[in-house]
Amino acid sequence: MKLSIQICQPYFRSTDRIKVFNYPITKLLNYSIFSMHLKITVLPGDGIGPEVTEQAVLVLQAVADGFGHQLQLQTKLIGGAALTAVNDPLPADTIESCLSSTAVLLGAVGSPAFDHNPGHLRPEAGLLRIRRELGAYANLRPAKFFPALEDSSPLRPELVRGTDIMIVRELLGGAYFGSPRSIEGEPGSRVAVNTMRYGEAEIERIARVAFDLAMKRRRKVLSVDKANVLECSRLWRDVVTRVGKDYPEVKLGHQYVDSAAMLLVQRPTDFDVLLTENMFGDILSDQAGGVVGSLGLLASASIGGPVGLYEPVHGSAPDIAGKGIANPLGAILSAAMLLRHSCQLETEAACIESAVSAVLSEGARTADLAGKGHAAISTAEMGHRVVEAVKAALV
Ligand code: NAD
Repeated sequence: MKLSIQICQPYFRSTDRIKVFNYPITKLLNYSIFSMHLKITVLPGDGIGPEVTEQAVLVLQAVADGFGHQLQLQTKLIGGAALTAVNDPLPADTIESCLSSTAVLLGAVGSPAFDHNPGHLRPEAGLLRIRRELGAYANLRPAKFFPALEDSSPLRPELVRGTDIMIVRELLGGAYFGSPRSIEGEPGSRVAVNTMRYGEAEIERIARVAFDLAMKRRRKVLSVDKANVLECSRLWRDVVTRVGKDYPEVKLGHQYVDSAAMLLVQRPTDFDVLLTENMFGDILSDQAGGVVGSLGLLASASIGGPVGLYEPVHGSAPDIAGKGIANPLGAILSAAMLLRHSCQLETEAACIESAVSAVLSEGARTADLAGKGHAAISTAEMGHRVVEAVKAALV
């Protein structure tokens, strides 16, 4: 991680300079006394990726200005945009830039234009490769319910109120990376193969991330697998159970993925840390987005390697791309995770999260969230309001 730190006069002497919405005063004791040089590689990608990333960068800039940090941004190609430009979904100079950065902020990849390309020339291949290049094996996907969004969840308010789930998804193993993988044969009699593969060390390292996080939360881990059918899941359950013995304060449960999917809509508040493998985590986190109101709200951090990768959970949403109506809050909240996990700037991260909470409380809604009584605002307007809320918090 390249991080240059200059010790300077405390930027914030006390709470009188900072007013962070909804945060207990204890959270503000961790003042920024450093001016940091944050070198961020921005990968806007495809579809709504550039639209939401633009807003996340504006918010990052407002926070950096307010707290006295220097932001150095480099924008690089990935996914369909890179395929169009250089016929490679992850060009070498994108990798170089990412590896020499403090952190990477990604929009989304994917475009129907490449649906018939061979696997290695699809936009998604660029995403899988950058995760592997960065060694980002731990994908943290928080799904937290904003009280202002009671009308946006398809669930009854009394069911969803208080939902606060941390999905910990293994990101570099399982069927997405396993080999052999192929489609072979003639049309009409083709056979496709994918391989789900997990080693004990891979399971152990992600399990430790989940237990460590649980120790800072409500001390519950639910490990989700399909151990009644899959060997990978049986190994998963064995290893997670063994690691769990090192964390006697954490209550460990196991659940089959099908029943976990049902519980997620029936009793979302029961979940604290949900630990699972790559594909199950991909699916369950979209579902968690639906539970808390919209997939567009969900942020993620992919960590574990030398440089963290931060991206909204959603994809490139080709159905709404170019219309200026995408929800940028998942991308903006990903910027908050970047500050927290790659820069250890907890106050700055909390400032963004509080600003998002504030604009939602004031009634700001993009189309995916607008229910009865709320007119929808554009992507840019939502981003602008978060920037203004950040500035207002830093008076
Ligand atoms: P998607 O997440 O792009 O969209 C699913 C639905 O949610 C769509 O109706 C879309 O309009 C809506 N949606 C998503 N994000 C939104 C936002 N910020 N604001 C408002 N509405 C939003 O998933 P998909 O349609 O299954 O996939 C589209 C493309 O994205 C595919 O090419 C897929 O491979 C790719 N994808 C990429 C990523 C990634 O880059 N991390 C993740 C998932 C899918």
